[in-house]
Amino acid sequence: MSRPLTATVDLEAILSNYRYAKQLHPTCKAFAVVKSNAYGHGAVRVAQYLEGEADAFAVATIEEALELREAGIEAPIMLLEGVFEASEWGLCHEHGFWAALENTVQLESFLELGQTVEKVFVKLDTGMHRLGVTKELASEYIQRLRDSGLVDEVLLMTHFSCADDLADLTTMKQLTFFEQARQSIDGGVEASVANSAAIMKWSVPEGGWIRPGIMLYGISPFAELSGVELGLKPAMTLTSKVISVRTVAAGEKVGYGATYTAEEDHQLATIAVGYGDGYPRAADNGTPLLIKGKAAELAGRVSMDMITARLVQDGSSTLTIGDDVVLWGNGVPVEKVAYWSETIGYELVTRMTTRPKMTYV
Ligand code: PLP
Repeated sequence: MSRPLTATVDLEAILSNYRYAKQLHPTCKAFAVVKSNAYGHGAVRVAQYLEGEADAFAVATIEEALELREAGIEAPIMLLEGVFEASEWGLCHEHGFWAALENTVQLESFLELGQTVEKVFVKLDTGMHRLGVTKELASEYIQRLRDSGLVDEVLLMTHFSCADDLADLTTMKQLTFFEQARQSIDGGVEASVANSAAIMKWSVPEGGWIRPGIMLYGISPFAELSGVELGLKPAMTLTSKVISVRTVAAGEKVGYGATYTAEEDHQLATIAVGYGDGYPRAADNGTPLLIKGKAAELAGRVSMDMITARLVQDGSSTLTIGDDVVLWGNGVPVEKVAYWSETIGYELVTRMTTRPKMTYV
């Protein structure tokens, strides 16, 4: 038997989540955000499955865009952070990539090269203060891009800093700022503002482009709501098997650092997954999983290649080598594992290494 750790990706679930995003905003077009290897789900496989349905794809780097083109993806591909060096504008022209634009270096290099690009999204800083320009500069950039005759359409985009927190009014402030800036643009301009949290819970401009990322993978951006509660279908299920079983007596300690102490005699399963696969080392004792479909929890520190766990309700001698384990996905929300690891679902799926076998259904 080869090492039994497998990530099974349900492509139909991703398509259904994409359709759900579009249903919520029927007047909008939607990027399928597949950056960082489609949040660990396999960018090429995901894009191939969505091709024909997705209005366009969005990635972070030119390498990610080229990988999709080389795999035969023909839909437009957007560079969410724009180009990092002037030569990338030539590749945008050649391969039909669209780009965000948020600084003078990007603008001047584009105008200097003089090659056409279909769509450019000028990024406005509405309060996140990471990327984007002021209202005045956005207006100036849009005018210069339009005057150049090198772009079919110039759009205005922004990104939210706190859309995942429904009690935080920052998103409303960012939206108001964005709308004011948009109204000051001569001749009007189409908008692109919404990430998954905004698509599902905030009122965002109709028309233009939405940018669903994490929701495509069935994962919630909100701490207090799971993907399933939001009507999403989880896309990735990470499964493994029990590879060793023992009984630990009350008072005995388990694993590196002896961080877990058995309070009574119970069975302990060793399972093939570790931080070398992307399972978070920070996962605390008590992190949920399923063994043979039964509720189980982490008992002992996560190692590079293995974890140890116990059933929550320990029957007598019920665990055996070869028992099926669900680490996250169907039956164990990845958001819960993230919570126990003091991180977010985004990070867990994105940080999976190349070691788990990937299978697609
Ligand atoms: N738009 C931009 C500019 C992004 O950087 C991202 C991801 O971080 C997204 C959209 C998608 O966000 P989410 O995965 O929260 O839907």
